[in-house]
Amino acid sequence: MSASFFDLSGKTAVVTGCNTGLGQGMALGLAAAGCNIVAVNRRAPEETQRRVEALGVGFLAVDADLASTAPIDDILAQAEARFGGADILVNNAGIIRRADSLEFTEQDWDEVLDVNLKSLFFLSQAFARACIDGQRRGKIINIASMLSFQGGIRVPSYTASKSGVLGLTRLMANEWAARGINVNAIAPGYMATNNTEALRHDPERSREILGRIPAGRWGGPEDLAGAAVFLASSASDYVHGHTLAVDGGWLAR
Ligand code: NAP
Repeated sequence: MSASFFDLSGKTAVVTGCNTGLGQGMALGLAAAGCNIVAVNRRAPEETQRRVEALGVGFLAVDADLASTAPIDDILAQAEARFGGADILVNNAGIIRRADSLEFTEQDWDEVLDVNLKSLFFLSQAFARACIDGQRRGKIINIASMLSFQGGIRVPSYTASKSGVLGLTRLMANEWAARGINVNAIAPGYMATNNTEALRHDPERSREILGRIPAGRWGGPEDLAGAAVFLASSASDYVHGHTLAVDGGWLAR
């Protein structure tokens, strides 16, 4: 296989929630492969902008709060105006709420489902429509979780949303594969970001988790870069509806 299979020069990726964490790691990986980045965030992604621009590709910051679907049309309009449209969509923005299921509130249910699942679906729908209308191939990469496969503890809305991401990835792939759009997901294992801060500060949970990771370490944002480039590139043109675990071997145990 030639290195050009992974070349994203001239392509444009919309990456949600990339001011920090895994989104930043994937944006940097895509940029290193030559891709322009449309960074969708609710606060200015200054560090990501600096690091992406240092790689010599284009960067556009779009202000958007994905707690609602209202900004979706504007995100794609801005990508169109600056780069002539997007070829890749990384649905990374996500939140988590932790509480015992007996105490869990409706607000913690709705807020998580709105960002992690509803906005992911409607942004994917708008992106797919734009690809089909513009007769462009498209690549959608959803961010799933170990809790797409497992139940988890004290995170009911998160588990529901991430199990939903796995199912929707398959559904969208079934409907859009023949329209030139690949829909796949990455399921990160336990990664050291804001999302897992509470777990990493709980000595017992953190010891249990680390003890079960065959790689012997938590993952980091840079660990997702290669998988994102693969699923964004022509190397994955015949991969549809797959959720790729990048988990240091967690699911193998
Ligand atoms: P993170 O550092 O908390 O990053 C989450 C990103 O989503 C941030 O950029 C955040 O922006 C953004 N975001 C949250 N709500 C938003 C909203 N309403 N509108 C726009 N952006 C919003 O955590 P992370 O670990 O990198 O998480 C990235 C994705 O990976 C999430 O979908 C998460 O569920 C998933 N994941 C993480 C792990 C892990 O172990 N860390 C494992 C499996 C899956 P702010 O900075 O403004 O909050």
